[in-house]
Amino acid sequence: MLGETTDDDDGDDEQKAPQTAAGELADAIRTTLGPNGLDKMVVGENGTVIVTNDGSSIVEWMDITHPVGRLVEQAAAAQDSAVGDGTTTAVVLVGALLEEAARLRSDGLHPTTIIDGYGRAVETAVDRLEQCERDLRSRHDDRLTDIAKTAVTGRWDDASTDRFAELTLSALQAVEFDTSKLTLNSYPGGELRESACLDGVVVDLETSSTSLETLRDPTTRSHDNPTIAMVDAEIGIEAPNRIESVELQNATQRSAFQDHEQDRRTELVTQVTRSGATVLLCQKSIDEAVRTALAQRDVLPVERTRRDEFDVIARATGSTPVMSVDELTEDDTGSVESVTQCTVGTTQTLVLQGCPEEQRTSLLLRGGTPHVADEVRRIIADCIDVTRVALDDATYVPGGGAVPTALAMDLSPLSRGIPDRTQLVFDGFSAALEAIPRTLATNAGTDPLGTLTSIKQRHDNGTETVGVGPDGHPCDMTDAGILEPTIVFKTALQRAVAVVTQILRIDDVVQTSADDRTTDAGHDHAHTAAGGYPWAVGH
Ligand code: ADP
Ligand code: MG
Repeated sequence: MLGETTDDDDGDDEQKAPQTAAGELADAIRTTLGPNGLDKMVVGENGTVIVTNDGSSIVEWMDITHPVGRLVEQAAAAQDSAVGDGTTTAVVLVGALLEEAARLRSDGLHPTTIIDGYGRAVETAVDRLEQCERDLRSRHDDRLTDIAKTAVTGRWDDASTDRFAELTLSALQAVEFDTSKLTLNSYPGGELRESACLDGVVVDLETSSTSLETLRDPTTRSHDNPTIAMVDAEIGIEAPNRIESVELQNATQRSAFQDHEQDRRTELVTQVTRSGATVLLCQKSIDEAVRTALAQRDVLPVERTRRDEFDVIARATGSTPVMSVDELTEDDTGSVESVTQCTVGTTQTLVLQGCPEEQRTSLLLRGGTPHVADEVRRIIADCIDVTRVALDDATYVPGGGAVPTALAMDLSPLSRGIPDRTQLVFDGFSAALEAIPRTLATNAGTDPLGTLTSIKQRHDNGTETVGVGPDGHPCDMTDAGILEPTIVFKTALQRAVAVVTQILRIDDVVQTSADDRTTDAGHDHAHTAAGGYPWAVGH
């Protein structure tokens, strides 16, 4: 497994020094950074396999046993949930900052000096970051497409990356960036390029166990300008509540009973047709005979519509769900431009397009297998997150390590002005920042030192937007459209420093069992540290 990266690992992962454990995690993740990062195959305990180069998924799936590794894992998870990107960057920075810290400690610096120095350096770096950022002009700024693309570069091929960004932006613009009005549906079968952005609501008839009576032609069947009625209860013949069984004595009684049932069904169908409804959505089941009768009168009955979809449809079409068909009137109905039954890949769906009351958009994502379809969905979700994050802050910076290089170059001369040993810590911090461009170059197969030197030269000559291009050579990131929300790098750096500070404060990992901690049978337990030392813990 990935956690076991050293030869001298004797299986007891928890015996490693805190710094080593975090560094090893960073080493394992480093090769996945950037557009040329390789994938990791993560094998779960029960044999499940995922192949991905998404840092957050890898860290999440890795079986991290070392408690310090878990601190890094938590920082990566926090980065992912806050901004949806920059997790690998954060982990690589943790590794580099710890490496520099180890060097500084071997030069005789105390951890607290390093912690203070890193704290001051990150503050300065974040202040300087403002000089690198540019403003987004509007929600329709073309830069947003570049930002979405950069966020998912390397996850699929280049042509698909463009398509992901394009689909994301058109879907977001259609709902005016209100993602609560956007639904992602992924379907196995078909190809990625068949994915589409649809104006309306898509009801997945399979996962919702919704069933339709009239699937005469399963490929397409469309109702134009239908009137939508919605019933929030079961539709059928009510069972008498008090009589548990009825014994029908003779044929006359039986036929009278059947007549009653038939009359009730006719009543229900008449009530529906009288309301003008041509599509009837029911949140629960519809009596089979009623369904058939409705279908014969050209009303499309849809039963067991999932609760969330039911509510969305009610809002979007302007229908008022009623609790019983008897209450249904024309006033309760709503409308859409069309309702189409169609088969997407192998899944049957009902598509309601052109909702009058609320703009709804659905992304129909396609992928050859369920695994691919799911990955496509995750990629689109990341594109959406990163676009929203960029808009929230309305600023972006060049990617490809241009920013950490610029910051490292800014910090170096500043450190000269610091009289005490913090100067060395500032230098270490700058070197750690350079880990980003160096790693991007290494992963692209170019010489990290040579690439970094020529990038720095171009920065010195005034082009601070130069970073490591997709081919591993220096290029101007703004010209190449490799852009990221400012907040992604900013928070990755801040989180990395926070977790490194935490790790530097730890000088040993003390293993204690939960039982010992919860027992109150005495205050003098002798605990054994993971390193095998007898340890007295007072509490
Ligand atoms: P993270 O989990 O940190 O987002 P990624 O594997 O997505 O890790 O890599 C992000 C890094 O790759 C960033 O520094 C970003 O600027 C850089 N990057 C993304 N796309 C490109 C590209 N097309 N060319 C060069 N660098 C890129
Ligand atoms: Mg990324």
